[in-house]
Amino acid sequence: IKTSIKSSVKTTCPYCGVGCGMLLSPNPTMQSGWDLSGDKTHPANFGRLCVKGASAAETLGFEGRLLSPQINGQEADWETALNEVAGRFKKIIDQYGPESVAFYVSGQLLTEDYYVANKLMKGFIGSANIDTNSRLCMASAVVGYKRAFGSDSVPCSYEDLEQAELITLVGSNTAWAHPIVYQRIAAAKKANPQMKVVVVDPRRTATCDLADLHLAIKPGMDAALFNGLLAYFSEHGEIDVDFVARHCNGFAEALDAARQQADIQELAELCDLAVEDLHQWFEWCLQSPKMLTLYSQGVNQSTSGVDKSNAIINCHLATGRIGKVGCGPFSITGQPNAMGGREVGGLANQLAAHMDFTSEESIDRVARFWQAQNMATQDGLKAVDMFDAIAAGKIKAIWIMNTNPVVSMPDADRVRQALLDCETVVVSDCMAQTDTTEVADILLPALTWGETDGSVTNSDRTISMQRAFISGPEQSRADWWMICEVAKRMGFGEAFEYRHPVEIFREHAALSAFENDETGTIRDFNLAALTDISLDDYLTFPPTPWPIVDKDARGKPLGTPRLFCDGQFFTSDRKARFIAITPRAPQSSPNPQYPFVLNTGRVRDQWHTMTRTAKTPKLMTHVAEPFVAIHPQDAEEKGLTNGGLARVFNDLGELILRVECQASQRRGGLFVPMHWNRQYASHANVDRLVAARVDPLSGQPESKHAVVAVEAY
Ligand code: SF4
Repeated sequence: IKTSIKSSVKTTCPYCGVGCGMLLSPNPTMQSGWDLSGDKTHPANFGRLCVKGASAAETLGFEGRLLSPQINGQEADWETALNEVAGRFKKIIDQYGPESVAFYVSGQLLTEDYYVANKLMKGFIGSANIDTNSRLCMASAVVGYKRAFGSDSVPCSYEDLEQAELITLVGSNTAWAHPIVYQRIAAAKKANPQMKVVVVDPRRTATCDLADLHLAIKPGMDAALFNGLLAYFSEHGEIDVDFVARHCNGFAEALDAARQQADIQELAELCDLAVEDLHQWFEWCLQSPKMLTLYSQGVNQSTSGVDKSNAIINCHLATGRIGKVGCGPFSITGQPNAMGGREVGGLANQLAAHMDFTSEESIDRVARFWQAQNMATQDGLKAVDMFDAIAAGKIKAIWIMNTNPVVSMPDADRVRQALLDCETVVVSDCMAQTDTTEVADILLPALTWGETDGSVTNSDRTISMQRAFISGPEQSRADWWMICEVAKRMGFGEAFEYRHPVEIFREHAALSAFENDETGTIRDFNLAALTDISLDDYLTFPPTPWPIVDKDARGKPLGTPRLFCDGQFFTSDRKARFIAITPRAPQSSPNPQYPFVLNTGRVRDQWHTMTRTAKTPKLMTHVAEPFVAIHPQDAEEKGLTNGGLARVFNDLGELILRVECQASQRRGGLFVPMHWNRQYASHANVDRLVAARVDPLSGQPESKHAVVAVEAY
């Protein structure tokens, strides 16, 4: 590995959506060759790093890397490989039309990569069949925000963690999935012992160690819980009548819907909670104007994830607890580019710069800005539908960028078979052997973290830079470069003549400001102050939350930590919308054949499908093998022993897993981590058992609620 810096470099962690800043300095005495520490100036982490981030330098070696382009298993040069990709896509489009091809991309991509991939598919190929693994992560939160605010705007800032009086974490094992957010909450609570922390989660997770109260809710009941809170606020005179009247629509309908359900006693029974606990949380909510609700995949990965998200937002709107210090409904998302993909229209139902296909004016605006040759005019296929269309032979060519859908998609075996049957599968990745590279016809070696420059946006809208500080393998290339080279070979050259990611970033910023209000009041996502950013300023860009529409006296871009402080939203009448929520149960219920509810999620020291974290021996010591967690009494009834083996199965397949008896599990619930893939443990890929059922509005799969049986193996 060639080091390309002499002193030190600031960059951003490659893992989760907290988006921690890092400082790397060359140090030949370290095994990795690098000193890695937290960046004390970064507003996400102020110098802290979790164990995953702290060991990121250990993943820098070239072991296991994809080292050259390949066509049908044979090494090829780039010219041949790019011609082959462009030629195959072009031929299929000529024969079957633009809807016969697709891109499936990733929250691991940098914003600049994401931007050109979207521009190629939506502006020049003429289809919106580009979706992202973010569909599995936060698509429900996106729709929730858009319904309520008219835009995909996270209103909060990480600063609110230290300011809140009450933090409720819903469906989020923050201690393991977003460790630095958890550490900040822990530090805030230590500094202010009056602060309350409540965890709403069917499992007693590590996050509960910090909690004043754990509501071990029955899976799927979150919308009912927050409807109950809304009704409680109303009964106890906590509605901010003035805020609701001046800044919101639809309150009466939402309250009516919330009142349809049970009183507190019945609600407690419905949610399988002690009424005293429920009452305690309601009271704390009542007494805590600075109320912050953080929610994550436990809310989003559901067939009613959007409604759950809006039930939470309703409570904040009703009490005016939004746009103020220490308040707000805060979706904390998974990946390093948590929001960057959303900014450039990474989802199949979005257009760039937070526009979408519901507005002809937006389609026309983006088309004019791009001088698009063949602008898409309607939503493309969301992830589950996209792989269904491949299985049905409607999509004949797909380019998968830096993600591993053969492991992470629901009904994973079907996805694998669909790709095996697909006419052309192109995979660009930094790793040679993943479950998805195994089914590729064409492989393109990608540069990865530390080898390329670009921007990412974390969960609180802060844009940070990932910086190149080493040279990647000789034949590896940046994702933006290979996308543009394919675009040129498809005949779209002029629109893809970028020489450096800064040129893409400037165009991205210019599109956000194009026919937008300078003050950012027309569309929320606006980088007007960055349209002429210099290369030096780009490479040293300080972490800044968007919108960024102004500069200070010294020319430094000014960010916006908190949105909606003026009570103005991004709907046509500038008012927020309440959504009337009728709670819906998960689509599959436990039954005599499959009596257990299977929950999936992360363990502390692994990331996604382990293609990076499994390279770090230290991270493999925390949880060394896949497991199924089960309540000790359920284990006893099923004849399972702690440390023995179990077969977990349903109609879709079976897994063989080590049994971990954990009293923290709900009775009737199982937990299996999502990380293990066929390369490490072919018997343990949990998404083989997750049915491809989705939220009708967001298309996000119900990955937290499969029904299965378990028996001794
Ligand atoms: Fe990286 Fe997330 Fe850990 Fe921060 S909390 S160091 S972003 S994995």
